[in-house]
Amino acid sequence: VSGAARDMVHRVLPPEPEAGALSALASGVMWTRMPMPGPLGHVNVFILDDGPSWTVVDCGPGLPSTAEAWDRLIAGPLAGRPIGRIIVTHGHGDHIGFAAPLARRFNLTVEMSRGEWQAAVVRFGSAALFEADHAAAYYAALGCDPEMVRSLLDSRRSASRHVVGLPPSFRRLAAGDRIEAGGECWRVSTGGGHSPEHVVLHAAEAGLLIAGDHLLGRITPFVGTDPYEPLGNPLADYFATLESFATLPETTLVLPGHGLPFVDAAARARDIRRHHDARLSDLLASPAEGTVLDFARRLFPRAAAGSHARFALSETAAHLNLLVATGAMRRHEGTPLRYGPA
Ligand SMILES: [Zn+2]
Repeated sequence: VSGAARDMVHRVLPPEPEAGALSALASGVMWTRMPMPGPLGHVNVFILDDGPSWTVVDCGPGLPSTAEAWDRLIAGPLAGRPIGRIIVTHGHGDHIGFAAPLARRFNLTVEMSRGEWQAAVVRFGSAALFEADHAAAYYAALGCDPEMVRSLLDSRRSASRHVVGLPPSFRRLAAGDRIEAGGECWRVSTGGGHSPEHVVLHAAEAGLLIAGDHLLGRITPFVGTDPYEPLGNPLADYFATLESFATLPETTLVLPGHGLPFVDAAARARDIRRHHDARLSDLLASPAEGTVLDFARRLFPRAAAGSHARFALSETAAHLNLLVATGAMRRHEGTPLRYGPA
């Protein structure tokens, strides 16, 4: 462990930056936040100092408040130097939502993994083509009645309002790539779970990990199925991703997509794994057969409607699908799908 990494752990974190302002986390590595509706309240954006220009990691949601925050950053703290590169960790609205307008403004091609670009196109781009009918059938298969399906579709629609168009093309980031930015060399790794090919950037020398939403300090990253892959098993992918953090030095400073930077990634990954294992045990303890909705009501009793219910259903489906994949439970095909003892 380098002295610099050790110092970083013992150094007090800078103040949480306001939208439109920067806090320095390490030499050449700046932190800002974009406001976001909902309980999270913000998404973190990291800005790396490349001398004559800046590298931006994640862009914030496609909302007017994001445009204002970028205007203030560009007019002030970015000191007249252009953004020279835009990296997106994953294709969720709070991270990719403002990528297209920002890339247009600086005439850039967004850099991201192929899997995330394609997933974003499916998630947001095809909404008008098939999403509503198909998503309605998906929620019906999970056991929802028509009124609940309507509430879930409304919540999906409001989530897609956080995207101001998608980047029309992208430059591919792949596992093993190396990126020079902010005076550091960052190694790209990719993994599934929260999203299909989420990019994580690791600067081993500096002891920094830009983790996006694959490792968060206080909340557990969302891991759930999507309407376009209802029988998917993203939790198995996520467990593999968590394993990849097991060997990180304790002093590595994790820069997450939401919340405060933190250290001891391996311990945090173990905590998150335990949380999922406890849920899997809860599901296995249920004696009766049921729909995804039945199980979701047991795991998340307060998530009755809207986005809470939407996340609860797809998280529950992900856990059930993992138990089916390991042979611990059985899935009975049909509408709705039913899950029960193996
Ligand atoms: Zn996020």
